[in-house]
Amino acid sequence: MCQTQVVNSTIRVTSVSDFLSISAARDPQRVALVDSATGERLTYSELDERVTSTAQVLMDRGLLSARVGDRVAILLGNSADFVLSYFAVIRAGLVAVPLNPGYTVSELSQIMQQCDARLLIVDSATGELGVTSASDSCTVVFCDEVITERETLRGFLKQSLRSLVRGKAPSTTVFPEVAPDDLALLLFTSGSDGDPKGVMLTHENLVSNVQALTDLRNPPTVSAEDTVLAVLPLFHVYGLNTVLALAISAGAGIVLLDRFDPVGSLEIISREHVTTVAGAPAMYLMWSRVPSVREAMRPIRMLSSGGAPLPPEIFNRFEELTGMRIYEGYGMTETSPVITSTVVDGRAIAGSVGLPIPGMEIKIMADSGEEAEHGDPGEIWVRGPGVFHGYWPDHSNGPDSNGWFGTGDIGLLDESGALRLVDRRREVIIVNGFNVFPREVEIVLEGIDGVTEAAVLGRSDSETGEAVTALVVLRPGTALTSDEIIEIAAQSLARFKCPQEVRIVESLPRSATGKIAKGRLREVYELDL
Ligand code: AMP
Repeated sequence: MCQTQVVNSTIRVTSVSDFLSISAARDPQRVALVDSATGERLTYSELDERVTSTAQVLMDRGLLSARVGDRVAILLGNSADFVLSYFAVIRAGLVAVPLNPGYTVSELSQIMQQCDARLLIVDSATGELGVTSASDSCTVVFCDEVITERETLRGFLKQSLRSLVRGKAPSTTVFPEVAPDDLALLLFTSGSDGDPKGVMLTHENLVSNVQALTDLRNPPTVSAEDTVLAVLPLFHVYGLNTVLALAISAGAGIVLLDRFDPVGSLEIISREHVTTVAGAPAMYLMWSRVPSVREAMRPIRMLSSGGAPLPPEIFNRFEELTGMRIYEGYGMTETSPVITSTVVDGRAIAGSVGLPIPGMEIKIMADSGEEAEHGDPGEIWVRGPGVFHGYWPDHSNGPDSNGWFGTGDIGLLDESGALRLVDRRREVIIVNGFNVFPREVEIVLEGIDGVTEAAVLGRSDSETGEAVTALVVLRPGTALTSDEIIEIAAQSLARFKCPQEVRIVESLPRSATGKIAKGRLREVYELDL
């Protein structure tokens, strides 16, 4: 278990919000955030003070009055308001539940119901979606609108978090002490059975993963002199902990960008003198097609990728174009997230995801239940302070009694001990770094009137890594077309989960036990999958 670390004589690091206080004390005037959409710039001391005031408002009796351990859902894009809200929730001893603004009302309502959020923080872009998805017992707070009087929107209290913060007399609220083992973050991922699962991450999980990455020096992951591009979504653990919290702990500048556009993002890199980028494979693919990429990337000293396989063609092409190698990391939401990285020994090699970061151990398990011979593939198991505490709410299916957790990914160790990923045991499809569990999509398709059964598979895709493909069987006499099925599914599924292609088939192959034989689908239908 991680011990709370005393970093200087006054501030102990128990939560990620302590990183912010330390960086603000060290260099208060350093620009911490640049919100590329609004142009807003906040120094470390401004950010730290606003986080404290926002945390006070969240806890204030009579205003919102959340209590320690209450879940606060955040439905915001990559913005200064997201950063303020997240650190305020953590500072107040509450549990943050970041939500994907690309989700549909049905996806969000299910999660909101499961986590029983006391508060939901939205802005004018996500307000409608949030208000429609929240339950009656959840207060919805808008952060970006200046509203002088309380208004109601469909019966919900609509008030501006920023105006509440401004109107509040400064006080010396003492925030509740959190323990390293207290729950800090609940991140919902799709479950293999189709229902969302809340990954329970503690303060220790988050802090330890950031500290392990801070310790790497070959090259340094991030330093106070860096300006970091935060374009990966902050509702995902990679953007939240490995980009945002890591940059805050180093006291670096952070440029927030809500949507990736290859040309626009390169302009921002040049304009803001961005020096480090943590990206996903699809970003590097799109950048490699922009003729000015070499020139635009001039200020950059480090590039990294994670969340999905970085194809060697993209790695090599990017090196040819820019002279820079992309460092690759491997991890998952359940491990806060980083398990291995090529930054550990500084050897960025195509196809390798590197060595375990300090504190994380991995082992490769053969089907026999024994550890695999060195060099043989097997399931990757992981142990360390970043490993989660099971799924919400009852800590189910977490690490075993010795702290080991089976990732469901298949990998092998090369001669240098670095990990290479070869396959996935789980049926998950990874679209642009986002996980899609086929069952969730199948349930939606099977809920469409006229569809009797559906099987969902991943197809390789040069743009997004993989794409969702579905085979559906229709009730005799039903006249639905593939496009109509896709259109109906899109009402319930976020865009990345929605099938790109639907094939209508007569029947699906079955195993001896009557289950749909997924392994045989590809061969039976001669799909190019
Ligand atoms: P998530 O929980 O959304 O972060 O997804 C985690 C999954 O993404 C892992 O279990 C892997 O299957 C996959 N993944 C993460 N990083 C990589 C990588 N560098 N290469 C290949 N797959 C990856």
